[in-house]
Amino acid sequence: MNVSQGKDTPSDELVEALDRVFGFRSFRPNQEALVRAVLAGRDVFAVMPTGGGKSLCYQLPAHLLDGTCVVVSPLISLMKDQVDAAADNGLRAEVYNSTLDGRQRAEVMRRLVAGAIDLLYVAPERLAMDGFLSTLESVKLCLFAIDEAHCISEWGHDFRPDYLALSRIVEHFPGVPVAAFTATATHRVQQDIIERLALRDPHTVRASFDRANLFYQVTPKDNVNGQLLEFLTHRPGESGIGYRTTRANVDSTAAFLSQHGVSAAPYHAGLGPEVRQANQEAFNRDEVHVVVATIAFGMGIDKSNVRFVVHADLPKNMEGYYQETGRSGRDGEPAHCLLLFGRGDISKQRYFIDRMESESEREVASGKLNEMARFASTNACRRRALLGYFGERYEPENCGACDICRGSVEQVDATVDAQIVMSAVVRTGQRFGAAHVVDVVCGADTQKIRDFRHDQVKTYGAGKGRPKRHWRSIIDDLIAQEFLEVSRDGLPILRVTPTGGEVLFGRRTFSVLKQRKVEPAAKAGPAARRGKGAEPAGEYDVGLFEHLRSLRTKLAREKNVPPYVVFSDRTLREMSQLAPASEAQMRAVTGVGEKKLAQYGQAFLDAIADYRRPGSQGS
Ligand code: ADP
Ligand code: MG
Repeated sequence: MNVSQGKDTPSDELVEALDRVFGFRSFRPNQEALVRAVLAGRDVFAVMPTGGGKSLCYQLPAHLLDGTCVVVSPLISLMKDQVDAAADNGLRAEVYNSTLDGRQRAEVMRRLVAGAIDLLYVAPERLAMDGFLSTLESVKLCLFAIDEAHCISEWGHDFRPDYLALSRIVEHFPGVPVAAFTATATHRVQQDIIERLALRDPHTVRASFDRANLFYQVTPKDNVNGQLLEFLTHRPGESGIGYRTTRANVDSTAAFLSQHGVSAAPYHAGLGPEVRQANQEAFNRDEVHVVVATIAFGMGIDKSNVRFVVHADLPKNMEGYYQETGRSGRDGEPAHCLLLFGRGDISKQRYFIDRMESESEREVASGKLNEMARFASTNACRRRALLGYFGERYEPENCGACDICRGSVEQVDATVDAQIVMSAVVRTGQRFGAAHVVDVVCGADTQKIRDFRHDQVKTYGAGKGRPKRHWRSIIDDLIAQEFLEVSRDGLPILRVTPTGGEVLFGRRTFSVLKQRKVEPAAKAGPAARRGKGAEPAGEYDVGLFEHLRSLRTKLAREKNVPPYVVFSDRTLREMSQLAPASEAQMRAVTGVGEKKLAQYGQAFLDAIADYRRPGSQGS
């Protein structure tokens, strides 16, 4: 089963193995170079986005090399799914953790020592146990693969002290290469990971953060539950996540959706471990379609067919937004990321920030919130803004997969409105907050206005014709675009910034976004094919797709694995496009390797033939 080892493995031998095991015709960006480095015995370090295909970079070498690859993965609850997925491709994978009883553990050990395991999944705390490292010394190892490697860094956002035990690997096993993978690491975190793991001149990859198959949309929030329901009616049976900030809102939204016939379940830290585990499991197995959750949900979930992520409340920062939206579309198929943006959310988040203990933390959090609010209200390509935040330049003029680039949002000039507001700010001495400024603009009769004689200023009542809501949102946009700033010391007071002054004096214009119509870009069906980054393009038979999807669910249940482990959405879509009629044609479908063909090929061929038979629904 082994190909010639080392860096000289010919390209076609690797591609042949890729096809045979995984049923993939080509490598994704960086995969081949990483696989080659590992085959050559080098340490590697890779930052690749979620869905970039990191697992394959250690699974393929583990299959090709003699000896076992030890995979360190942070969450025991998800290890079984990872092992099931590898095993379903014919890899000899096992978990070794506290969920096994003594007999099972002894059996895994026996096979390990006998050299009958390609991939052994363990939690980091396992490696901290002395006995375990010594046991491994009597095993032939080919690689240590560290998943979610950023957890070892205190500079990262998910530091886990358990990961520190991994520093001992290189010392204990100087002859075994170490491969570290993560989806998020700043340069500082990268350096930290490399030092702590003591990687030796690692082959390093920093891939683009771009997720070409995700469609980004921001839309004004008015009635969360109604908007969500409307969004979901275009996506029957699809898997997705709805994020909300508070537990109470998670519960009420999940209940609302359930009452309206959506298969939904809540997830938050207040629910108790059994309920959380059960709801996550049901989602993973497509038994529940929508999880409504706080950000406690999602870490390490490998479910590949999440078709949408809706943020019903404003995320705290861009890191969170990127990570949460990133949980959709791992399979490379189109997925839709919708953010419902209400101005009120900014002040709700500020309320929590203002209560933070440390001043420096407050400052950082507040700066990040401003960036988030700006993202939600800018009038430029969302993809460019998102990547720009992470220091990456996005070159194309039009990304083709966000609401701005698809023209569902238009820019409207609002320079005059901006001048009215800023003039009121300046003429009242830059000493008041938004509520008072709106009162002045609208010509209200309040005690405060009488006390300060603000009915005498020139702009008093200049905006009478429009509702307060309108002026409030102009102020929010001015803040988001940094034409106004809010003092953070003491009471929130509005001031005009230098660039704001340019608008005030007519040297610069100001525009706001107006939504045209919401275009459900990435729903299942032929419409989805228009999305960029989602190849191969072409129509497919939606009815057949549904037919195959239910077969997938049935087979997954029988085998007690999540449906995406059987076949990905992408594989089902290709099947419904090509309608294979022979084993050879079936084997040519992406994701159908030798083992999958043997296990499921006939069942799917029968289902396709059945669907196409005259008189059945598909003819
Ligand atoms: P990551 O761990 O980087 O988030 P995964 O390893 O879970 O990503 O892979 C994401 C999805 O992409 C999986 O469904 C996997 O089967 C698929 N995939 C990986 N490599 C390829 C490839 N070369 N061609 C097609 N699909 C791939
Ligand atoms: Mg992964």
